[in-house]
Amino acid sequence: MTTLDQSLPSKLITAASTKLTNESDALSALDAVAGDGDHGVNMAAAFSDAVRRLTEEPPANLAAAFRSTSKAFHNTAGGASGALLGSFFSTAAKALEEIEEPSTSDVVNALDRGAARLVAVGSSKLGQKTMVDALLPAVVAAKLVAGDGADLGAAMSAAADAASRGAEATATMHPTAGRARYAPDDSMGSPDPGATTIAHIFAAWAEVLNTEVPA
Ligand code: ADP
Ligand code: MG
Repeated sequence: MTTLDQSLPSKLITAASTKLTNESDALSALDAVAGDGDHGVNMAAAFSDAVRRLTEEPPANLAAAFRSTSKAFHNTAGGASGALLGSFFSTAAKALEEIEEPSTSDVVNALDRGAARLVAVGSSKLGQKTMVDALLPAVVAAKLVAGDGADLGAAMSAAADAASRGAEATATMHPTAGRARYAPDDSMGSPDPGATTIAHIFAAWAEVLNTEVPA
């Protein structure tokens, strides 16, 4: 792949880790509105563990980086989001495993497969005020751009914009999944923490890919 040099998979996860660590307090505050206030801590812990794993065992490719990230989410992040994002990353990794030089479409398709798995694991659908409301629009936007033959940076920029809009739109939704559904009115006016995390991940990836000098 021309857009992903050897070090780029680790850089993508490291950039997400930095972003989520910086946003940890804000995300936990969002989760405290109608949940248990641990979302930012969960995300920062999982991504930090992913970076530790990738430092110990540098990934040969994006599949390996996603596989390590999946293990970090399953082992380190408490909460529903750890299992959901662990499944997202493990399925995306599996989709990339047999592909020696993944194209933009291959990477976007892998993210699409991961999103489908997350939806299946969470028994979730759009409109429930969850991370799905940012993730599905992000993947749809990335697929549209990838189908036009654009590079991965352009696809991730489109994904980041769509995820951000999707996360903002959750502010006016009533939660019908996850912990927040037990206090359905408390989060009115606040965006869903998990959806906000998805927007941060794609924003971090777009930034890395669009500033990276091609190898
Ligand atoms: P917990 O709710 O177990 O404390 P977190 O606080 O880390 O876990 O994550 C909460 C986020 O997980 C929510 O903001 C929501 O985006 C996401 N979430 C919870 N349940 C589901 C589900 N069934 N489907 C999709 N996303 C979910
Ligand atoms: Mg929580």
